[in-house]
Amino acid sequence: MTLATAPPAPVSLPRDRSDLVVVGAGIVGLAHAVEAVRRGLRVTVVERDRRPVGASVRNFGHCCVTAQRGELLDLATRSRAGWLDAAARAGLWAPEAGALVVARSATELAVLEELREERGADAVRLRTRDETGDALGRAADDRADLAGGALLPADLRVNPREAAPQLAAWLARQPGVSIAWGTNVTGVETGTVHTSRGPVHGDQILLCVGHDLDRLYPDEAAAHGIERCRLSMARIEAPAAFRSDAAILTATSMLRYDAFTATPSAAALRAEVNGHSAELLDVGANVMFTRLSDGSVLVGDSHAYDTTEVPFQDEAVTALLLREVARVLGVPEVRVTERWQGVYASSRRGPLFVRDVATGVRAVSVTSGVGMTLSFGLAAATFEGTLRATA
Ligand SMILES: Cc1cc2nc3c(=O)[nH]c(=O)nc-3n(C[C@H](O)[C@H](O)[C@H](O)COP(=O)(O)OP(=O)(O)OC[C@H]3O[C@@H](n4cnc5c(N)ncnc54)[C@H](O)[C@@H]3O)c2cc1C
Repeated sequence: MTLATAPPAPVSLPRDRSDLVVVGAGIVGLAHAVEAVRRGLRVTVVERDRRPVGASVRNFGHCCVTAQRGELLDLATRSRAGWLDAAARAGLWAPEAGALVVARSATELAVLEELREERGADAVRLRTRDETGDALGRAADDRADLAGGALLPADLRVNPREAAPQLAAWLARQPGVSIAWGTNVTGVETGTVHTSRGPVHGDQILLCVGHDLDRLYPDEAAAHGIERCRLSMARIEAPAAFRSDAAILTATSMLRYDAFTATPSAAALRAEVNGHSAELLDVGANVMFTRLSDGSVLVGDSHAYDTTEVPFQDEAVTALLLREVARVLGVPEVRVTERWQGVYASSRRGPLFVRDVATGVRAVSVTSGVGMTLSFGLAAATFEGTLRATA
């Protein structure tokens, strides 16, 4: 599977003023555009590339609902409904397959049991060793390292290679919507977006430029401590027996998502993983994988933070992740068909950046690596006026 490679179509900017101009055709911008269309608004989307190539096509396609907490859990739950509605409208593949968290020790299982205590048995469905082994396609006599698992049924799956391009194509067919591809935004003021092709006018402007907020608003980005997080990713051929559409999470995932890290056993889990696999913690690993409908599997990831990302991918990091994925799948090795680096906005100050940078100009960036999960919830909250500006 490759991204579409049609020759560039001519671009003409809309002459009329739109109700809303969205800058950025990643999932956050597109979700806002879809929500605007639902409300009957005229929308122009301005995107510097010829198709979505940012974080929104480089991720796992995992709408990770249950592992969120507090405000993010509310937004993720709203987002789930928005995704399903958008999937029905735009014909997206979006199986309600959930996520399976694989436990390979008593401590990992304890974290899952504690989350079930908090959320209830419907939201966190404990799985036996054999149920977990079946989901992973592991042979019945090769399950000794599994302790069990938990299915989180509220989580959704989408294909990250297809979701944003398909949403953009659906949007472009709606009355009152224009998408200006290949058009770089160079500056923004109330009512006007300045671009490499001339001005675009709108009553309201939304900047959904992800980690590139610092290119347009460096001071605001610096004040919120926005950095670039880069992640090593790969696509592998799936072992024939692995056919689950659920996102597969592991112990290192439990160390990264708030719902797990808030459990009483989380500290013991960190100590345990540090004891047997410190090298995974050193690279900020979240060992997880998701299967695409063609049977290939997206695997990752590591996390490294800087204001400007290092372009070089350390093969040792990818090899470490691949070894761990192979262990979970119970195969000697996996065959890689693609590798890439993903980049998303990150901040230690908070999971979201929401700020009115001028009258009628709002910037929305997810600064916690869960933009696929939150996108449609953020869009709904933006239009309802319930999305609070970040302090
Ligand atoms: C490897 C990886 C794995 C991830 N896994 C998950 C996951 O499983 N679940 C989850 O919820 N999240 C995940 N994330 C995070 C998620 O992908 C991001 O939070 C989300 O895609 C951000 O969406 P966005 O629209 O803000 O950014 P982007 O997709 O990066 O889109 C921003 C767009 O703005 C455009 N743009 C920027 N500047 C300009 C300009 N000046 N003019 C015009 N256009 C401009 C860019 O070209 C780009 O298309 C992952 C991220 C990565 C990298």
